[in-house]
Order: sequence, then structure tokens, then C-alpha cells
Amino acid sequence: MSLGGPLAELYQSALFHALGKEVEVLEARFQTGGCISTAARLITDHGEFFIKWNTLQTEMFEAEAKGLALLHRSGTVHCPEVLHVGKYEDMAYILMEFIRPGRAIPTDFAALGRQLAALHRIHQANFGLDHDNFIGRLEQRNTFTQDWLSFFIENRLQVQAGLAFYKGLVDQKWLDRFKSLYPHLQDFFPSEPSALLHGDLWSGNIHFGEQGHFYLIDPAVYFGHREMEIAFTRLFGGFDEAFYRGYQEAYPLAPGFEDRVEIYNLYPLLVHANLFGASYLHGIDRLLSRFLP
Ligand code: ADP
Repeated sequence: MSLGGPLAELYQSALFHALGKEVEVLEARFQTGGCISTAARLITDHGEFFIKWNTLQTEMFEAEAKGLALLHRSGTVHCPEVLHVGKYEDMAYILMEFIRPGRAIPTDFAALGRQLAALHRIHQANFGLDHDNFIGRLEQRNTFTQDWLSFFIENRLQVQAGLAFYKGLVDQKWLDRFKSLYPHLQDFFPSEPSALLHGDLWSGNIHFGEQGHFYLIDPAVYFGHREMEIAFTRLFGGFDEAFYRGYQEAYPLAPGFEDRVEIYNLYPLLVHANLFGASYLHGIDRLLSRFLP
């Protein structure tokens, strides 16, 4: 028996646009764990699908679809195939392949490390991307820049610190002190080619699938310094040790990475402060007092 109600119409419409035919939705199971949207697993007479929706614009899902396509085309990491992005009444949605969760405890973190290393070996002349996208629900600017330091300051730190000021989380004095860090970053980062990054690689965006491999979801892709990605994986406790071993064997990090981790993580901390509140600024304050007189 088909489902009824306004959500059922959303599901039907999304499936019709994706598959070009009427599909019967037998069951919709809500999925927890998302930060922005409501999500459901759709069980239909044509297989299973994953749908996420919210009352924002479709831009966020369009950017997510482009990011997933870029990762998929790289042929290095697994990610779900996007079937359709659209709007039904006031709801924007993204419909994609449903990744059945694996039952076994994931053990092959080293393989994930190697896959990420392969992704990071995809280079491009400049840092940035041909379009802006989103980090969480915040806009992420990706203006092409020739060197990493300028990209990091102009597109990452400056934008988020400015937003924190605009939101009243920090005052002018804090902002001035934060900016006085920039000259200290001259010659701080090892010179490397820009690398294709997932851009938001925390454990919630890694999904262990039935086939026994990891899928990366919810990306905020751009070409950046690969250390940025590895540093971020460490922000909330770090991944399994085998992940770092696998990565390091496949594509060793430059010496001194440990000393740079916290500087890279200024960006996600600012993003978290702007999304979830000023308590995330404490870590930044501690770092500033270490770096600045
Ligand atoms: P949000 O964008 O709101 O943060 P997520 O993309 O994190 O939402 O998805 C919400 C939940 O659905 C998470 O638990 C995630 O693991 C799961 N999920 C996301 N994409 C898929 C998929 N293609 N197949 C199966 N589960 C998925």
C-alpha cells in the first residue's frame, strides 16, 4: 500500500523526476544524525533511496550534488550517486542512492586512509573551486587563488572571522588581534600543490556500507592544502589510528605537521562558533595567546 500525506507527495515527486516513472513508496523510515535537513530512507517497489529535505533553497543541495559528483569522478573514494535535486512546494530536496549500512564493525580504516591519499593526489594549478559551496549551512567561498596562504586567509579565516563579528560573537578588538596572526603565517605552510579535498571530513560524514567500504557524504569540496583535511579529522578526537597509517604510507605529510594542526583548525572552529555559538572561540583564544605576544 502506498503512503499518503504531504511528505508522500514529496517522495513521489522526487522519485518521478529521478526515474521518469511512477514509483510506489512502501515505507519511509526517518534517519537521524543530520544537522540541517530531515532525512528518510525510502523503501519502494523499485528499490531503496535516500532523501533529505529542508525549507531552505535548493542551492545547498545543488552544491552537495556537484561535490559528490566531483568526488565520484575522481575514482578514488566511494560516495553515493545523486539522482535528483529539486523543489516540491516549499521543500528543497536531494534524492540519492541509499547506502545500506554495513553490519560488521569497520576494520579497514587503512584503506580509507589510502583512498583519501589518492584523492589528495588530484591536483590543480590554483587553490579554490569554480563555484562557491557550503560548510554546514554557511556559505563557503572558493575564489581561485595562486597560493595557499592567501586562499586560507582571504577565503577561510577572514570570511568566518568577519561573520563572527557581524553576528556579535566577537568585538573589533578581538578581530584586530585575530588579524594580527596573519603575518605570523608567512612561510608557515609547506609548499604543496592544491589537492582535491572532501572539505568536511568528520566521522559523521563517513558512512560504513554493506559492501564493506566507507562512503563519504556531505562534502564541502575545494582544492586546498591537504594538511587542512587531515588536521580537521583530528579536531573532535581523531579517526582510528590505522587511517593515519594508511594515509601516511601512501602520501607522507611534510615534517612538522603536528605544529600546524591547530592553525588549520582555526577555520572549522570559527565555522562552529558561527553555527553553534561562541563557546567554540575558547580554543581560538588559547591559540592566539600562544602565537601572539
Ligand atoms: P545533514 O546534511 O542534515 O547533516 P546528513 O547528510 O548527515 O544530513 O544525513 C543524515 C543521516 O543520514 C546521517 O546519519 C547519514 O549517515 C545518513 N545518510 C546520509 N546519506 C546517506 C545515504 N546516501 N544512504 C544512507 N544513509 C545516508
